[in-house]
Formats: sequence, C-alpha cells, structure tokens
Amino acid sequence: MDKASITEGKPIRCKAAILRKAGEPLVIEEIQVDPPQAYEVRIKILCTSLCHTDVTFWKLDSGPLARFPRILGHEAVGVVESIGEKVDGFKQGDVVLPVFHPQCEECKECISPKSNWCTKYTNDYLSNTRRYGMTSRFKDSRGEDIHHFIFVSSFTEYTVVDIAHLVKISPEIPVDIAALLSCSVATGLGAAWKVADVEEGSTVVIFGLGAVGLAVAEGVRLLGAAKIIGVDLNPAKFEIGKRFGITDFVNPALCGEKTISEVIREMTDVGADYSFECIGLASLMEEAFKSTRPGSGKTIVLGMEQKALPISLGSYDLLRGRTVCGTLFGGLKPKLDIPILVDRYLKKELNLEDLITHELSFEEINKAFHLLAEGNSIRCIIWMDK
Ligand code: NAD
Ligand code: ZN
Ligand code: ZN
Repeated sequence: MDKASITEGKPIRCKAAILRKAGEPLVIEEIQVDPPQAYEVRIKILCTSLCHTDVTFWKLDSGPLARFPRILGHEAVGVVESIGEKVDGFKQGDVVLPVFHPQCEECKECISPKSNWCTKYTNDYLSNTRRYGMTSRFKDSRGEDIHHFIFVSSFTEYTVVDIAHLVKISPEIPVDIAALLSCSVATGLGAAWKVADVEEGSTVVIFGLGAVGLAVAEGVRLLGAAKIIGVDLNPAKFEIGKRFGITDFVNPALCGEKTISEVIREMTDVGADYSFECIGLASLMEEAFKSTRPGSGKTIVLGMEQKALPISLGSYDLLRGRTVCGTLFGGLKPKLDIPILVDRYLKKELNLEDLITHELSFEEINKAFHLLAEGNSIRCIIWMDK
C-alpha cells in the first residue's frame, strides 16, 4: 500500500515553518494537517519559493491582514495526496500548482475574457479556507488552530487547498520552474501580455528587478519591445537584467537632483509607452505614472504597497490621456493560462532558469527570508525533502 492510501481520510503529522510573531524567524514545528473537506485537495509540497509578498506579511504586525500563528508561502508546486468529496479533475499523484488567485469557472468574470477578477471569490482574501471561512486545516502540537495564508500556505510538508485555487500541470516541467509559475513569473508575464498587451517597438520602464519585474521584462522582450529600462536601487540587478532583455538602467540613487520620472522622460523623448511598478511603494507607483507618455502612456501596478498606502496622481496628468491600472496575478486565469505558460516553457520559448539564484533545504528557510529581504536573491527554491 502506498503512503497516500495509508493517510487518506486521516490527519497527517508533518513539519511546518510557523510565523508566531511579526518579523521573527519562522519556527519549524510538528503540526497536524486535517483531511480535505468537500471541494478541497490535500497536497504534498515538493518545493516552494519565497515571493516578496511573503516578506511583506512576515513583517506586518497589526491590522486585519496580520494573523498569528500562521503558515506563510504561496509560490509552490505539489503532488496530490488525497481529495475531498465533490472534487472533479484531480486525483492522487497529480502534479499541481496552488495559486493564491481563485478561478471558480462559473461566475460572469470567469466566463468572460475581460478580466481574471472572479466575482464569486475575490472579495475575500482574509478567510483561512475558501468555502469554510475561518475554519483551519492546521493545528499545532497544543491543538490550537494555525492560520492559513492567501489560500495556499506552502511552508509546510502538507497543505490543504480549495479546487478554485488549484491547477493541474504537466509533470514534464522541472518542479522548481513550475513553482515560479504559481506566482511571480505568471504575474509578470501576464501583466506584459494580457494587461498591457505591449506592441512591437514600444518603450517600457520596469520599476523593480525582482522575479516579478524580470518576468515582465521577459514578457515584453518576447513581444518585441524596443527599449526596456530597468529601475532598481541594487546595481547587482542590472547584470541579471541584461539576460532578460533589459537595455537601459536607472539607479534612483544616482539621479542627483532629478526625479526618476524626469530621467525616464529624457530617455524616452516624452515618456515611456508602458511602465510597470514591481516594488510595492506608493511613491514609486506615482513616479511610474509620471514616467509615461501623454496621450497613450499606460501604467500597470503589480507591487503590493508594503503599508497599504494610497497613491496620489496629478489630475492634469490623467487629463493628458495617461491611464493606470493594477492587476493581481497578471490578469491571468490560473486554470486556463498556467498550462499555456507550462507549454511555452516546454517549447523552450521562455528563459526562466536564471531567476533561480539559490536553493536551500526546508530547515534553512529563514535564510531565504534574509536573502530576499536584503536583495541578495531573485528566487530561492526551498526543497521540502532535502
Ligand atoms: P523582490 O524583492 O524580488 O524585488 C523587488 C526589487 O525592487 C528588488 O530588486 C529591489 O532591489 C527593488 N527595490 C526595492 N526598493 C526599491 C526602491 N526604493 N527603488 C528602486 N528599486 C527598489 O520582489 P518580487 O518578489 O519580485 O515582488 C515585487 C512586488 O510584486 C512586491 O510588492 C510583491 O508583493 C508584488 N507581487 C504582486 C503580485 C500581484 O499579483 N500583483 C504577485 C507577486 C508579487
Ligand atoms: Zn507572490
Ligand atoms: Zn469566478
């Protein structure tokens, strides 16, 4: 009998990295993961990586979004261990990506090609489980509930995910690359292709050259952008940026008296056709907007503002015909679009290997937080079994 059939329908005891206090190291503890309920699947995480959103929530110490104890992590790949009732389309052994952004496949928006904003589910990002509110599937050794994180919680050997957040993928793709497609890379490529739909010959500016920003670069490069300007405080990102098609660089620390947007406007005649904010700072979202050309310039905000601050846009700048929009998961519908990205990777159309700069064992997960927070990694793969 294989392990899946032994554990099916029963709680599993396994290791998880728990956030007990904001900004403190995660603690590896033994936890209990309950069996999946109707419309849920329990998965064994193969590997996970750290996205800046995990760092933002790791530091967040107050407000309705801050919850403790909690299992963070949302960029991952897993294999199905068991399924709950009413689960169609998944079976034990399937390779799957858990995705923080839902797709119910039934609501008006899920059916329409216009957006990925599933109206049935996207109004709730605060519950633990998609259909059961604050009910948690995780308990610590004292029997107390542990909070989930954006419907994924991948910093654990096993997790329970609703089928609205799960995508079956081809087992042919290397699992470390697959993990990146569950958040950052899909977000960046999707923003370039679906949200901006950049034309050949365009000028593009990308604020922030982490995995999200570099995936935007890869996306706009493939669409034929002529000039791709990367903005980053960390000069080490400039070298890697070149491998993703970035043609020009701006280091805000070296702009002197000028604002970043003034420098960009000088480099692009009157402004870039497209600007993407991939950092998560309100002040830079404003600079991204001011960097675009009057008449048709478009700003796409991908960064999650680290303190949830509002942004302020000049009303005359808007009157001049610029537009600005934000997007979660790059406008992609996970179940429809992730398999397309997997296919494009398998056809060798996407350069993604260079995004993986570090690999660590699960026991070393706290090192991954420091590597990302201090700008020393693009993506660090955390292997659960090593
Ligand atoms: P990252 O930490 O890997 O990269 C951020 C980059 O920004 C780094 O290269 C850093 O040097 C640079 N940077 C930081 N402060 C800067 C400043 N003041 N000026 C210039 N450069 C600066 O982050 P990531 O994982 O690529 O995520 C980027 C952002 O996207 C985060 O805000 C994250 O929460 C968000 N995100 C959003 C979605 C979505 O669906 N919209 C999905 C994934 C991530
Ligand atoms: Zn993410
Ligand atoms: Zn929907």
